[in-house]
Amino acid sequence: MRLIIFGPPGAGKGTQAGLLGERHGITQISTGDILRDAMAQETELGKKAKSYIDAGDLVPDALVRDLAEQAIADEGYDDFVLDGYPRTRQQADWLTDFLEGHDTPLDAVLSLSVPDEVIVRRLSRRRVHEETGETYHLDHDPPPDDVDPDLIVQRSDDEPETIQNRLDVYREETEPLTAYYEERDLLVPVDGTGGIEEVFGRIEEALDALER
Ligand code: AMP
Repeated sequence: MRLIIFGPPGAGKGTQAGLLGERHGITQISTGDILRDAMAQETELGKKAKSYIDAGDLVPDALVRDLAEQAIADEGYDDFVLDGYPRTRQQADWLTDFLEGHDTPLDAVLSLSVPDEVIVRRLSRRRVHEETGETYHLDHDPPPDDVDPDLIVQRSDDEPETIQNRLDVYREETEPLTAYYEERDLLVPVDGTGGIEEVFGRIEEALDALER
């Protein structure tokens, strides 16, 4: 299936897309992960993206488009879930044209909804493993005891002021895409509150309904 997992920062897109990969063989394509890898390796792309990411702003469309195009082509245009792409109208238009050009349109846009208070709590308590990228939550999913605590860090864009900017950018640039996908009959709203497995159960139900 060709899917987008959509929603505000902290809605659980990465976690749920990872589960779709593990359990249904639908590969997660996360532009955020690709950009963070580029930053860690200090590539040209990583250097260009860093100031935008650290401020919680969007990286310019042209930089991200190449990543998305390459990753989708690598998957053979099938069985992928885009996590964090598209985030602007321009990206959405490009994606529609690109996939139609390959005769491989999207099957659905799973849109996770989570209230702002929950988002702020989730993001401010989120931690990541510096080397593996594994994500934890200090209250609900803390790092196991055998993991070196020095390698557990906070993402630079998970600091309180940056979280607020990311939410503002989301409301301004990204949220309007729900109407874009609704018009195209692709939007599948999913309640993103509750535990990881509870949300994943709702996603599986939504996908079953699509296949019926
Ligand atoms: P994420 O891990 O999806 O929250 O992405 C982290 C950051 O990477 C975002 O706050 C943006 O700065 C950048 N980013 C990821 N995907 C995109 C995109 N599709 N367009 C622009 N910037 C992006």
